[in-house]
Amino acid sequence: MNCIFCDIVNRLENAEILYEDNETMAFLDIRPFNHGHSLVIPKNHYSNFLEVSNEDLSAMMKLVQKLANSVKTSLNADGYNILSNNGIAAGQTIFHCHFHIIPRFNSDGFKFKMNLKEYEENEMREIAFKIKENLK
Ligand code: 5GP
Ligand code: ZN
Repeated sequence: MNCIFCDIVNRLENAEILYEDNETMAFLDIRPFNHGHSLVIPKNHYSNFLEVSNEDLSAMMKLVQKLANSVKTSLNADGYNILSNNGIAAGQTIFHCHFHIIPRFNSDGFKFKMNLKEYEENEMREIAFKIKENLK
């Protein structure tokens, strides 16, 4: 299987590694939104978030929180975005599950909140009903 993030884990590809333990790894994104934009991955290969095992999920999310703190503090950021693109429709380009941690500055001018929609009457309740059915 051809996976650049597995290659980084196996030291077949270079990366600016920030942290690793048995389950997880963090490194700098090669094409950052802002300097310090980091990625957190499970070392095991999962093509998306829903596939991640409970054990790796918990290790990955703990590292996301730890790294968000470290990125914000060390770069003196005003805030940060944590996001994970899943599926081509969502903009995923590397099919090894990962979380982005993007340091944000009051002056950086990015607008993530574009194209916000509105609900028609009852639409919210209907959509909530569908989602809740699949949570059972
Ligand atoms: P996605 O588009 O799947 O949400 O995120 C993939 C991210 O991986 C992108 O932000 C991209 O810049 C980053 N990326 C792609 N290839 C490499 C690489 O070889 N090394 C590093 N460090 N980051 C990469
Ligand atoms: Zn992989």
